[in-house]
Amino acid sequence: MSSASIVVIGAGLAGLRTADLLVQRGARDVVVLEARDRVGGRTLSRTFGRGTFDLGGQWIGPTQHRAHALARELGLTLFPTHHEGEKIVDLGGRIARYGGSIPRIDPLSLIELQLTLSRLQRKHRRVPTDAPQDAEDAARDDATTLGAYTRAHVRSPKVRALFEASMRVVFGADLDEISLLHFLFYAEAAGGLMPLIEVKNGAQETRFAEGTQALSLRLAARLGSRVRLGQPVRRVVTEAGRVTVHADGGTFEADRVVVAVPPVLARTIVFEPSLPPARRHLMERTFVGRTIKCMALYDRPFWRDRGLNGEVVTDQGPLAVAFDNVSYGGAQAALLGFSVGRPAGEHARKSAAERRHAVLERFARWYGPEALSPTEYVEHDWSEEPWSRGCPISLFGTGALAENGAALRAPTGLVHWAGTETARQWHGFLEGALESAERVVTELP
Ligand SMILES: Cc1cc2nc3c(=O)[nH]c(=O)nc-3n(C[C@H](O)[C@H](O)[C@H](O)COP(=O)(O)OP(=O)(O)OC[C@H]3O[C@@H](n4cnc5c(N)ncnc54)[C@H](O)[C@@H]3O)c2cc1C
Repeated sequence: MSSASIVVIGAGLAGLRTADLLVQRGARDVVVLEARDRVGGRTLSRTFGRGTFDLGGQWIGPTQHRAHALARELGLTLFPTHHEGEKIVDLGGRIARYGGSIPRIDPLSLIELQLTLSRLQRKHRRVPTDAPQDAEDAARDDATTLGAYTRAHVRSPKVRALFEASMRVVFGADLDEISLLHFLFYAEAAGGLMPLIEVKNGAQETRFAEGTQALSLRLAARLGSRVRLGQPVRRVVTEAGRVTVHADGGTFEADRVVVAVPPVLARTIVFEPSLPPARRHLMERTFVGRTIKCMALYDRPFWRDRGLNGEVVTDQGPLAVAFDNVSYGGAQAALLGFSVGRPAGEHARKSAAERRHAVLERFARWYGPEALSPTEYVEHDWSEEPWSRGCPISLFGTGALAENGAALRAPTGLVHWAGTETARQWHGFLEGALESAERVVTELP
């Protein structure tokens, strides 16, 4: 049996930053146990062609100050997402180009869209991000889904389709799966709906030249042998004022444990004595979204010649949105599409050749026939990763947050909780993972 003052479970960004902050504070015997044979969790950066690309989390936004600061601290290079040019909206089989934030739609639909956004803004502003369960309408909003809300409040099919297509990708889920309260909490934690979906001034504004996994790789390098890979944790036993963590490769005794894994995976760990019912129920009632990243590499970014910036939002499947994904310094031209929610499930059931054809055919529809001939085609389906099970986040089923939201961050004895799903700001994002790390270290002695 090895001994440590603090064992952190999970070497994603949250777990690694937690350990890093503890070491900076003077703790020497911190150990991070990671199930995979790599660090970074839901970030994964790889080289394709002449560029570095992200198969997981990719962008950061201007109000994600922790992520910006850590990138600076670790000497990483940031670059802006390409956004000059027109966007495309492809709804109900009709393609239109537009500039600015809102597609050109008929005046009545435009009014309805703006009314919907401001109604939702009034609602999310009333949700306290440190305690969404305390929102005035928490029980009512958590008893319904974003899909049901949209059907009840948005009459124009065009506005509904546009809203659905934009929001599905944020959660990797269909609107009928998303609790309205969780959606409102998510929007408030991001500072609004537009910051969630925009490139300029939004969550998609900035990329990492080295890929986002470099954040974790550099933190892990700083932590050295404190990070142990290939150590899935199966059991956490609290007894006589100490915690024993049973992993596949060994047993670790500690004063405290920080669980920095998403709730859908935390619930697979056996806790003895068993966790309080509120914490257990909260974890039992989570599920993960489904996102497949689909990327095609090209000799040159031909869509830019046509005045397009690569952004597309569509209800046509298999993709929901697409972006220009040219790598740092223009080294490698690429387009990126996201298949999410139910269409992602349908897409995954097709053969590799059919999937490639379906995505390239979409790209050709928007950007021109050159899109049919990429130099390489790459896909990554996070549902196939046993240590993520899906992405981008664990979602809370209807009723879970209103009933047991107070258990989300509350320490349970000597066990503490981190990870982006516990964040109050930019919950669900890289920034949220970092915020959770800052918060959890303040709880530790
Ligand atoms: C396709 C995709 C696109 C995304 N896009 C963006 C984006 O553009 N911008 C953004 O900010 N965010 C994005 N995200 C979300 C972002 O990646 C996550 O919010 C963030 O990486 C979560 O970090 P974390 O440390 O909380 O969790 P994770 O990264 O999930 O880390 C948890 C770690 O725990 C490990 N683990 C799990 N169970 C155990 C166990 N029993 N024992 C030991 N180890 C265990 C896992 O292997 C993992 O390494 C995206 C995610 C995906 C997948």
